[in-house]
Amino acid sequence: MEEDLRRLHSEAHEALAAIRAPQDLEPFRVKYLGRKGRFTLLMRQLGQVSAEERPRLGKLANDLKVALDEALVLKEAEFGAGAAKAARAGEDLTLPGRRQPFGRLHPVTQVMNEVCAIFEGLGFAVAEGPDVETDFYNFEALNIPPHHPARAMHDTFYVNDTLLLRTHTSPMQVRTMQRERPPLRMIAPGKVYRCDSDITHTPMFHQVEGFLVDRKVSFADLKGVLALFIGKMFDPKTAIRFRPSFFPFTEPSAEVDIGCVICGGSGCRVCKHTGWLEILGAGMIDPEVFKKVGYDPEEYTGFAFGLGIERIAMLKFGITDIRLFYENDLRFLAQF
Ligand SMILES: [Zn+2]
Repeated sequence: MEEDLRRLHSEAHEALAAIRAPQDLEPFRVKYLGRKGRFTLLMRQLGQVSAEERPRLGKLANDLKVALDEALVLKEAEFGAGAAKAARAGEDLTLPGRRQPFGRLHPVTQVMNEVCAIFEGLGFAVAEGPDVETDFYNFEALNIPPHHPARAMHDTFYVNDTLLLRTHTSPMQVRTMQRERPPLRMIAPGKVYRCDSDITHTPMFHQVEGFLVDRKVSFADLKGVLALFIGKMFDPKTAIRFRPSFFPFTEPSAEVDIGCVICGGSGCRVCKHTGWLEILGAGMIDPEVFKKVGYDPEEYTGFAFGLGIERIAMLKFGITDIRLFYENDLRFLAQF
């Protein structure tokens, strides 16, 4: 008898704990505690036990029944509170829970990290510098004296006569060369600023510029490093071409194009039906820049390159409007 009582008690508690919906509470009550419920039926058998045993077993049966009653009341309160709260908020408790969204890296940051990782793999160190620069580091030391026409290409935000928001990360080349002696291999990632805004330009964007200085560095070294970078960033079979160009701080200078990653070179709107996409600027560091930092141009040569991170991200992900990166629309950002 005692064993039967305890077995029923633990079975009833397990059944109660397993209940997940308020509508299952009443059938539970009827089954165990109702007039024809299993507890009631078992207690009726108390009449058959011996007179010495009856008081002890009667008390036990009653205690267990009271405990189950209390557990049932608690369970009802649990559902009651939840259901009342849900009713106020117009929620349906049977719906699956909402998942907590995970944050992730911005696509620009992802591409920036990827670019840096490729160059770090080639032995380039990473250097970061100030966003507010002096006119000397941003222009003059890079062979762009006052009134040089190249200044017009950089729509500069001036802070005052001598301070400005850097228009490129090249000032870090100068700062590093002043501080250290060759051989040097370095990239400078960061934000740059130009007064310009349309579907391919934003007033703030990200660049990675890099340079290498040593004895006997040639244009072939530049070509080799950039070909390796482009192969890793896009596809190893990506077509590459160098076009003559002009930058005040490199001579000779080149724009580097890759075969259009959208149409594969057959011509599309993105490549303006040329089959080529301009992807970065590069060249051999101008001897005038070496003189500014006290290197002997007869002893050292080097190359420099610069690329826009947003531009690479747009090509890599097939994005046609640069402004999407800065609207902070989660529907856009969650795709990366
Ligand atoms: Zn194309």
